[in-house]
Amino acid sequence: MTAADLAFLLLRGATALLCALAARGALYRARLPAQPRQRRWRSRLAAAVMLALGVFALEDGVLVALGQLGEPIVWRSWVWVLLDISIPALVLAALATLRQRDAMEAALAAAARHDPLTGLPNRTGFAEAAGAALAAVARDGRPVAGAMLDIDHFKAINDGWGHGAGDAVLRDVATAMRGVLRPGDVLARVGGEEFALLLLGVDAEGARPLLERLRAAAAMVPHPGAPERRVTLSGGLAPVEGLDLAALESGLRAADAALYDAKAAGRNRVVVAG
Ligand code: GH3
Ligand code: MG
Ligand code: MG
Repeated sequence: MTAADLAFLLLRGATALLCALAARGALYRARLPAQPRQRRWRSRLAAAVMLALGVFALEDGVLVALGQLGEPIVWRSWVWVLLDISIPALVLAALATLRQRDAMEAALAAAARHDPLTGLPNRTGFAEAAGAALAAVARDGRPVAGAMLDIDHFKAINDGWGHGAGDAVLRDVATAMRGVLRPGDVLARVGGEEFALLLLGVDAEGARPLLERLRAAAAMVPHPGAPERRVTLSGGLAPVEGLDLAALESGLRAADAALYDAKAAGRNRVVVAG
């Protein structure tokens, strides 16, 4: 076997290998969830073309290099071999670009649902997570409560110690509250220093101790510049009577009214609606 035969065989083998990798990548894309039908079929077609090209390249390599041992390989064959190997290489590059685009799309979708300061869901993320949580409890018939929480005199923190200190308090309060809640509870930042909370498996009165624990957690957050002062929260609680988003909205409206009562009664307290 001449060096040219060996080089030809190796190039054809490499083409077949790249084709197999490209076919596998395309089939993987075809199986990704939430892909439109059209994209699925496009991926399957790409996989089939890659497999066919790989088999052809391997067969051609064996025929030319081993079938006609020692015979010179014409320059046109070399051109075809190089063009052939560039096809699966380009398909693999395109698949890598698509993977990057998928990751970017997922990151954008997550960013649209989250507040960048606290990492908590925002209003959109809350509606989505709460909708899913309510659908899950619909099956077991447990009670559901909604709460609205608001940091007391937060503007004074911004005015006294700057917006950066205010941001740090917001972040720390969010982390402290998250640490107290169970994984299934849905906490979101729905306004400047306002949080909404969906509690599964408890009624409004039963959720009061949990909200007291949230208040205690917020009180552990260091107050900027004045260690003797505490960060305090006011909260309103109300039952969520129904398992759709309209019921959640009306429950949270009642919780917001209870929050208003908590503020009017002197802040740093929890009021249950009704
Ligand atoms: P209350 O006890 O009645 O709730 O009074 P408050 O001062 O907490 O409430 P108010 O609504 O008067 O002020 C809220 C402040 O929150 C005003 C706004 O500038 C500030 N704020 C809103 N979003 C942010 C934010 O992302 N970062 C910071 N640092 N401040 C924010
Ligand atoms: Mg406030
Ligand atoms: Mg407020």
